[in-house]
Amino acid sequence: MSTANILELMRPFWGDASTVASFVGGEFIAGHGDLVEVRNAHDDSLLLTYADADDNLVAKADSAAKQAQRQWWAMTAQARGRVMYQVGALVREHAEALAQVESATANKPIRDARVEVAKVAEMFEYYAGWADKLHGEVIPVPTSHLNYVTYEPLGSVLQITPWNAPIFTCGWQIAPAIAAGNAVILKPSELTPLSSLAVGVLVERAGAPKGLVNVIAGYGHTIGQRLIAEADIRKVVFVGSPATGRHIAVAAAQRCIPAVLELGGKSANIVFEDADLDFALRGAQAAIFAGAGQSCVSGSRLLVQASIFDKFTQALAEAAKQFRIGDPADPETQIGPINNPKQYAHVKRMVEGALAEGALVVGEGSVPLPDVAGYYVNPTVLAGNNQMECAQEEIFGPVVVAIPFEDEEDAIRIANDSRFGLAGGVWTRDVGRAHRVAKQVRAGTFWVNGYKTIHVSSPFGGYGESGYGRSSGLDALREYSEVKSVWVETAAKPAASFGYGANLE
Ligand code: NAD
Repeated sequence: MSTANILELMRPFWGDASTVASFVGGEFIAGHGDLVEVRNAHDDSLLLTYADADDNLVAKADSAAKQAQRQWWAMTAQARGRVMYQVGALVREHAEALAQVESATANKPIRDARVEVAKVAEMFEYYAGWADKLHGEVIPVPTSHLNYVTYEPLGSVLQITPWNAPIFTCGWQIAPAIAAGNAVILKPSELTPLSSLAVGVLVERAGAPKGLVNVIAGYGHTIGQRLIAEADIRKVVFVGSPATGRHIAVAAAQRCIPAVLELGGKSANIVFEDADLDFALRGAQAAIFAGAGQSCVSGSRLLVQASIFDKFTQALAEAAKQFRIGDPADPETQIGPINNPKQYAHVKRMVEGALAEGALVVGEGSVPLPDVAGYYVNPTVLAGNNQMECAQEEIFGPVVVAIPFEDEEDAIRIANDSRFGLAGGVWTRDVGRAHRVAKQVRAGTFWVNGYKTIHVSSPFGGYGESGYGRSSGLDALREYSEVKSVWVETAAKPAASFGYGANLE
């Protein structure tokens, strides 16, 4: 895919624009900062270059978002819902172009990109339905008051998203934010801004006020940091690496702005000897190799009962050889490359470190594919233990660390011996055990005899260093709302005491 091809794919969204620019207040505004270079992970060629966003975009995005939010909140809830349904319809109408853009820039197999784009349409449709159902509550207080609770928008919110699932995380965060009445300033990864820019355009085209969704194209350490420090925002929602997340939480705390952190994981996928092992094998493959392991919920620690450890891990390594690995643009490709050179170097370093620590490669694999310029890593099964760095740190590549366990207690102990807690899974035919394990593993999402299913209607988020706050479902609407409690005196002759009984007579 060449730069010209990508710009052509963006034509339905930004017409004849010839460079990547931020979308603020309904206008494309090119930056003049340092050049951002995006490389094609398939062959290491240069894919895109553009200039980082200028600092003056902070004020522009602020004023555009503020004005749009006022207009948006002044509309009826039903009208907001209709606009959001229309966003979903436009995403479906442009699904193929969006999938092509996503595949080319996120280096994601086109078949995966198509699925993720369809999910983005669903996200807007799901929250469209919520727009006129976010009603408050009446609390049965023990006084003569009518006490009611309302949910109000925060105002403008800042969202910062990663490169591994750009359009998915964009829809995942924008849809609940605007359903709750907010305006958005979104800074996608500098490596993958295009699909988010396209979604920003579609939100406006669906009938939202200009500036309701502003998308800033640029680096995190420059414009991203500046937005957190200076933009007139009421919340920061960050999806990305634990290291950056910590930094962002500190910056937000310095301004007393709340944050939601959706960070990484080192999720345990637990296979008991009584499981349907064919099914578990397919699940273990999907858990770590789909998306070349570049998924926050990857089952990157595979805990296998000792009695079946060798047989199961060898079968997994054997199955891993059958994948079609290659150019993300090829509809047959199941596993694409690692997204970018920095991440590629990290994956290789982690595998080398694992081998140096004594992990063993099961079957073949572990090295980049020969004779290609791109950032390919073979699906790799390592046998190790939970103390190794490869079992404690996110690799974010198609590399699983298999760890044996003796019994249920041992499995739960190992699963919880991690500073992360994003997800996990268990494979067993024993229904009681399935529930016991699900209850005791500390993780925000847990699957029984399955892995990786998530849906916009169900809450998602982490325990421990996987972050805090929740995305999706009703919980996301609460994250994007202020809660107000209103007390109305209803007694004909109110008591002269107020509050906790302070008596002014
Ligand atoms: P990253 O932390 O490097 O970057 C994420 C975003 O933060 C990018 O937009 C980047 O430009 C921005 N950023 C970087 N430094 C910044 C700074 N100083 N100030 C403001 N913004 C800054 O993460 P990544 O490498 O793009 O993504 C991979 C990570 O994301 C993995 O750890 C993965 O597990 C995690 N992730 C989590 C979820 C989830 O929902 N829990 C989903 C997807 C990805």
